[in-house]
Amino acid sequence: MPGCIFFYRAACSTTAKLLALVVALAAAWPALEIPIPAALFFSLSLPAEAAPELSEATEHPAANAVRLEQSGERTKLIFELSTSVESASFVLADPDRVIVDLPQMDFLLDPESGKPAKGPHRKTGLIAAFRFGQLAPGKSRIVIDLRAPARVLRAACEKSDGDGHASLVIELAKTDRADFRAAVQIARMQLSSATQTKKDQKPQPASIKPVVMIDPGHGGIDRGAMVKGLVEKDLVFDFAKAVAAKLETDARFKVVMTRDDDSFVPLSERVRMARDGHAALFVSIHADTLSEASDVSGATVYTVSDRASDAEAARVAQTENQADAAAGLDKTEDASDVSDILFDLTRRETRAYSHFFAHTLTNYWRVAGRLNKNPQRSAGFRVLKAPDVPSVLLELGYLSNQTDGQALSSAQWRDKASSQVAEAIEAFFASRESTTTLIKTDPDQVPVGKIPPGGE
Ligand SMILES: [Zn+2]
Repeated sequence: MPGCIFFYRAACSTTAKLLALVVALAAAWPALEIPIPAALFFSLSLPAEAAPELSEATEHPAANAVRLEQSGERTKLIFELSTSVESASFVLADPDRVIVDLPQMDFLLDPESGKPAKGPHRKTGLIAAFRFGQLAPGKSRIVIDLRAPARVLRAACEKSDGDGHASLVIELAKTDRADFRAAVQIARMQLSSATQTKKDQKPQPASIKPVVMIDPGHGGIDRGAMVKGLVEKDLVFDFAKAVAAKLETDARFKVVMTRDDDSFVPLSERVRMARDGHAALFVSIHADTLSEASDVSGATVYTVSDRASDAEAARVAQTENQADAAAGLDKTEDASDVSDILFDLTRRETRAYSHFFAHTLTNYWRVAGRLNKNPQRSAGFRVLKAPDVPSVLLELGYLSNQTDGQALSSAQWRDKASSQVAEAIEAFFASRESTTTLIKTDPDQVPVGKIPPGGE
């Protein structure tokens, strides 16, 4: 079965007992110390006017509630579903995770319900945190971060006798490191054979106009930072769309987004899109959070470097580089082969252009937005590693800072700030054109961003 990971498959059917469940959950929830999903309140009140929304959502099976149960050395994560679904589960290391793949689902849950629990509960159980969401069209995924090596006793829907509802029960038991590694090894073998079949995408022909690639960070199951209802993947998508819309009014550019909707795109795929799409500039948009320092604020523009410019830059790169792990990808699924084919000259030039754009962007940004006290930094961001595409990563601000959070969720602010980004891009190309003319006098040098199709 190529392309199919399949250690544990289960078809499930159902029971409802919805009211009893809701009452039981409501009673048990305080002890579990995880936020009650909005959908739970929703079930209690059963509002008639919400019916149209529900019928829209029932296009896919829905998850309406989630809870954690702990008994002895076993931990259960239970999702209440509108109907039974098939599932496939496996484990991955670095970091230790359990992955449960599902058909496309609607998760009608508070996105923060899987954040690491606070208080005494956080020190018990095998589950440190979990995420859920779309991985690819037609495919959803649950990713569980483990506190200790675990094996999956079951990941299956349980039949209940009733109106078609089902419980997806993921039951984990503690195991030793050697057993866990063996299970990871099997998963890796299956994943690498699945990855091989995906690698045949052909580069697109080069566009005559310079291609500006706008990269909204995260997406799908990978939500990025989340603070009090602000979700990074949504905020940066709205911002990226605003920048793209402004650039599209300028006929000089071809604007491409790395994602057009709320879907997950691996980091190496974003780099591949920039290279194969012959991007002349790649701008990745993100938002940061610092739980311990809510006074830290303002935007920062990052470029790639082998050594981080400072500890803060290293932290941000480490966080952003975890996007693939957050979505349950294994290291072997990283198709990036960039480091093997670098020409130092190309890379040096690319980095010089990246720095130049970072500087331009910082200057334009300060017109409409606030800057971090050290607004230009560098570190080893995986998404910026295309050797022949000038690339920067813009952290719009800190969701953990009240002023930044308010700005990021304001349409008015977004309009002003995205205009500055678009203008910075226009200014970058205007000055690059004059630089390119100079470089063209040397026939041995190819200007950065004008790499011929298929060439290095
Ligand atoms: Zn991010």
